[in-house]
Amino acid sequence: MTGVLSDDAGHGSGESYFWHPMGHPAETQTKPPLTIASAEDVHITDSSGRRLLDATSGQLSVVTLGYSATEIKKAIAAQLDVLPYHTAFRGYTNQPAEELSRILIEDWFAPEGMARVFFSSGGGDAVETAMRLSRQYWKIQGARDRYKFIALRNGYHGTHFGGASLNSKAAVRRNYEPLLAGVYHIPTPWTYRNPFDEEDPIRLGELCARMLEEEIIFQGADTIAAFVAEPVTSAGGLVVPPSNFWPLVREICTKHGVLLIADEVITAFGRTGYECGSRAWNVKPDLMTVAKAITSGYFPLGATLINRRVAEAFESSRDSVGTIGHGYTYSGHPVGCAAALAASRIARRQRVWENARERGTELLIGLERLHQKHSIIGDVRGKGLMVRIDLVHDRKTKTPLDPATTARIYEVITAEGVMVRASESSIGLSPALIVERSHIEQIVDAIDQGLSRV
Ligand code: PMP
Repeated sequence: MTGVLSDDAGHGSGESYFWHPMGHPAETQTKPPLTIASAEDVHITDSSGRRLLDATSGQLSVVTLGYSATEIKKAIAAQLDVLPYHTAFRGYTNQPAEELSRILIEDWFAPEGMARVFFSSGGGDAVETAMRLSRQYWKIQGARDRYKFIALRNGYHGTHFGGASLNSKAAVRRNYEPLLAGVYHIPTPWTYRNPFDEEDPIRLGELCARMLEEEIIFQGADTIAAFVAEPVTSAGGLVVPPSNFWPLVREICTKHGVLLIADEVITAFGRTGYECGSRAWNVKPDLMTVAKAITSGYFPLGATLINRRVAEAFESSRDSVGTIGHGYTYSGHPVGCAAALAASRIARRQRVWENARERGTELLIGLERLHQKHSIIGDVRGKGLMVRIDLVHDRKTKTPLDPATTARIYEVITAEGVMVRASESSIGLSPALIVERSHIEQIVDAIDQGLSRV
């Protein structure tokens, strides 16, 4: 047996040696996963030959430029010929990593005030880097007690011990406890479900920001290294914060000297309809984490961006406390950086964030129509091309729909030719940023069918 064999429905059968992330190993053996065989443009094809419009960018909001970005593929192949790998640890560098750093700072994130780049292999690595560098920043400053982190209850920051400690989801926390000491959480400004039963967005934004300030004061501001949050939360339940929340967060962090880390692993490079999520809220973080869209998923790559305040502390340090004892074998990987350079050229040339904004508006309008039509929809929300539908048994009580019914809806949507991301009681949508209006119509129609047939 050499792994999963495929049946006619594109599902594997037989013994698999592969344990999948975020799944139960026993379930994988009895309920084989779907084998994705190939993809082009914004469509995926499974091993049974079924072709689906991918409304998820590879399920995890990754493939922002679609599956046929020849320019990225060629850049990867060309770089493999020139230099497939060399470390970028102290004393070594390579041309693609240098060039990509310049482009990230000068072309993408100058308005956010970013000054330096630290590369990694993905989002969780980038978050870990941000957490470690922020603790180190305070040690350089002589504020050795500033080691704690505050995060949002609906956040998701990966599964390293640092990122998982910031996370909300029990599934990524409970079986791995104890997690990092000194991490605290505040409520997320989510109008649909929040502990204050507050539906007014501005009032809720104020309340949650006040919770942040109260937590900082309660812990002692001189013990807090950083507040970490996604500009629009994604995997922990998509929450688009009210317009006042991020500006208030920035104000509070500045007032108490706390670093602000924006986890832009999903939101950077156009997803929200802006070049990054921080810009959507007009906020300048101290550190930013990016990944996924940086190469449109064609090569695993992440980066932590560092503003001048933090960079200057490190660069003016003259003793070993300023030495970065952190890094990954694949930090500054020449092939990953070459892929990112090509992805950046495409994204900037096509101004994909503008398409995300326009198509995202169409998508929300279409789904709002379905909200009126189907009482099973409790809430629809999104920003740009990150959108989520929450399904409920009862609109009044907001009781989440049972997973079996959600799964049936998912099956119908798939049968209609559209791949969405279904969780227990929600449907997530994050199509490629290059989708066209006709794709949006197809997505909305398929969901309409799915909801009509339960
Ligand atoms: N931060 C955010 C906001 C994410 O959405 C994710 C992944 N979905 C991560 C961090 C972790 O990234 P990775 O899976 O590449 O480690």
